[in-house]
Amino acid sequence: MGKKIAFIGLGHMGGPMAANLVKAGHRVSGFDLAPEALDQARTQGIEVSESAAAAAAGADVVITMLPAGRHVLGAYQGENGLLAVAAPGTLFLDCSTISVEDARAAHELATAAGHRSLDAPVSGGVTGATDGTLTFMAGGSAEDFADAEPILASMGGRIVHCGGPGGGQAAKVCNNMILGVSMIAVSEAFVLGEKLGLSNEALFDVASAASGQCWALTTNCPVPGLVPTSPATRNYEPGFAGALMAKDLGLAVQALESTGAQARLGSLAEEIYRNFAGGAGSGQDFSGIINDIRAASDVEAPAVEALA
Ligand code: NAD
Repeated sequence: MGKKIAFIGLGHMGGPMAANLVKAGHRVSGFDLAPEALDQARTQGIEVSESAAAAAAGADVVITMLPAGRHVLGAYQGENGLLAVAAPGTLFLDCSTISVEDARAAHELATAAGHRSLDAPVSGGVTGATDGTLTFMAGGSAEDFADAEPILASMGGRIVHCGGPGGGQAAKVCNNMILGVSMIAVSEAFVLGEKLGLSNEALFDVASAASGQCWALTTNCPVPGLVPTSPATRNYEPGFAGALMAKDLGLAVQALESTGAQARLGSLAEEIYRNFAGGAGSGQDFSGIINDIRAASDVEAPAVEALA
């Protein structure tokens, strides 16, 4: 049977996720601070509320998909905050990408207010959100996960229980640290190959079937023309924007500092992507980092036509 779901944050990800909940037969009350997001949501069968509190009143489940931890904690707290207005026992699912510390704080606030809660960040981007094929990484109790799973399945293709509170954010931050480091490594290898007179095609043919194989090379290849569906082939249009990679690596560095784990490459990747996102890379796919490495190495980008 369909649930009454409040959906707070109807942006690039939240809008299509909420639309998939409607398609699955749930009644969705949505709220966003941006009027354009609300207009778009109306066209998808989402009932638009005048405030987050109004959306959450009487809901079985409250989902948040907000930019950062401060927005989630801000929306949860206060006299008219989500935790105060929701009926006791409401299931809170935070799908935003936030720090493990903030996720644990959100969980503690929710349970102290008599609610149930899971962190459930996603990977798969806007395409995955639109197609309902996101991967969800969830942290919280087994019982709450069991209740959340069918709802998350309306928006995703793969739902993984990663352990207790904060477990989902921990999996997300570790995965994206691998991704940031591996994209830089792949890009550096192509640029070194170019300096050595090796063609990009030859390196791709070897590494894609050898021990250098990874997602950054064979799915999101930073060199245009080698993988037809990679953002590089459409002029680095995201995909996964450099600004989001910089944000996620910032969360990784926060986790490194709070735990004392040593990750020299992860920390360096954060610095490299922070610089990239501070310039032209903000709105470009994160694979565009290869052009910064080319510029620093004094190598011209090969013409895309020549590769086609
Ligand atoms: P977005 O900026 O498009 O959407 C966020 C929305 O939240 C905006 O529409 C904004 O108006 C709204 N908002 C902010 N504060 C609010 C409040 N207090 N109440 C109601 N609405 C509020 O961002 P997005 O791309 O949808 O990303 C959302 C989250 O998902 C982020 O944490 C991001 O890191 C994560 N994420 C994004 C992607 C991606 O490819 N875009 C992929 C995986 C994870």
